[in-house]
Amino acid sequence: MSVQLVRKQPRDPGPAAWNAILPAAGRPRVLDEAVTCDWLVIGAGFAGLSAARRLAQLCLTDRIVVLDATRIGEGPAGRSSGFMIDLPHNLSSSDYSGGTADADKKQIAMNRAAIAFAAEAAGEHGFPAQVFDQRGKINAAATARGRSLNVRFASHLAAMNEPHETLDATAMRQITGTDYYEGGLYTPGAAVLQPASYLRGLAEGLSGNVTIYENSPVGRLERTGAVWRVQTSRGGVEAPKVILAVNGHIQSFGYFRRRLMHVFTYAAMTRTLTREEVRRLGGEPNWGVLPADPMGTTVRRISGAGDHRIVVRNRFTYEPTMEISDARLARTGDRLARAFADRFPALAHVEMEYRWAGRLCLSRNGVPAFGEIDENLFSACCQNGLGVARGTFCGMMAAELATCHNPPLLADLLAADEPRRLPPEPLAWLGANATLRWKQWQAGAEV
Ligand SMILES: Cc1cc2nc3c(=O)[nH]c(=O)nc-3n(C[C@H](O)[C@H](O)[C@H](O)COP(=O)(O)OP(=O)(O)OC[C@H]3O[C@@H](n4cnc5c(N)ncnc54)[C@H](O)[C@@H]3O)c2cc1C
Repeated sequence: MSVQLVRKQPRDPGPAAWNAILPAAGRPRVLDEAVTCDWLVIGAGFAGLSAARRLAQLCLTDRIVVLDATRIGEGPAGRSSGFMIDLPHNLSSSDYSGGTADADKKQIAMNRAAIAFAAEAAGEHGFPAQVFDQRGKINAAATARGRSLNVRFASHLAAMNEPHETLDATAMRQITGTDYYEGGLYTPGAAVLQPASYLRGLAEGLSGNVTIYENSPVGRLERTGAVWRVQTSRGGVEAPKVILAVNGHIQSFGYFRRRLMHVFTYAAMTRTLTREEVRRLGGEPNWGVLPADPMGTTVRRISGAGDHRIVVRNRFTYEPTMEISDARLARTGDRLARAFADRFPALAHVEMEYRWAGRLCLSRNGVPAFGEIDENLFSACCQNGLGVARGTFCGMMAAELATCHNPPLLADLLAADEPRRLPPEPLAWLGANATLRWKQWQAGAEV
């Protein structure tokens, strides 16, 4: 018999703005009884919902249960900036390139498989372009250093025969309405999501054999013989096979201890812009840019049904407790407001209606925490900051692995090393935060 008490439940700081601007969701279905099923998926972010969708496709008559501690769209997945990126996006590099061209090509194949999977779901459920749009991405450069990082990344892409286009300051102004950017690097393969809308749509579209319980945190996981049992705050589930899709919280379930790095990143969304502010802003109604320097600021402009807003994201802090204080959220919120005002001085008076943060999970060697970690217990965790694509891919692949299918890309995922052990605390905390601060300082006006 194996018993795991779940030591920590997720705490998501600040409001999940992408979810808050949608019409209110209906009442949640909370698990308040004992149920049995063929498959249990824990976590309803990109990984969990993708695992459930793939299981439903592969096992047409099996009963599948998904549990999440919070509401769909309220966790880190729904708090993301919504870039589903196909290309290498190594946050610890200076220009995003991963490693060798061969390793990067494998990573690209995995990310594109995830985008194709999401595009199929988007087509099936009729998601509009505001929810899922394969319009590519731009790495925006605000400094000479940013431009040179774009040049370096472009030559890495050229070596892999990946299409890309260099944009000058005029083109960037036409798109964004601001002259903050000196240039950009456009690549066509990424998709851009309204993350909360996408997750809600994916959940609603799951077939009749999938039941999702929200606000149902798992507090205990145990195996007796061939059966896994979990306890939530008000109910329980028994299933022969379980997929853990809880990203860094897999550590709270007792797995991968001292091997996962928990990092927060921070975001803010303006109130609705007035018609006059929209006119003053200029540029295209919907666009998004990632920073040329991974430590810089991501910006999105979103428009739909008369609602125009700007969303900014920056800063990373390493937080081994998986929690941050309200004071930290307030401080970084002020920095986000400054990054917004620097880019859009004519709108500097516009308040941020929402300020929030969310967890990422990284490993030192950039690998996922993936595979069968106990008998019939599968992990689809540790997305290394690129969880929109990688979470989707790990979820899909966990379903393939658990059902004994063997698609070609699964072997590449299984061949990855284990997440490398971290130095002891407080050394890891001191080292990681000092490195992040230094890199953020170095990024200068890209932040
Ligand atoms: C502000 C911000 C911007 C970002 N932008 C991007 C971006 O543009 N592109 C990108 O690729 N990535 C981005 N990310 C990272 C991305 O959001 C994550 O990598 C992604 O959410 C990971 O997906 P996941 O499904 O693996 O895990 P999660 O989204 O963390 O989902 C795990 C789920 O498990 C649930 N859970 C945990 N413990 C329990 C428990 N005990 N019981 C039940 N349920 C539990 C949680 O509530 C959660 O809903 C961003 C993150 C943030 C915070």
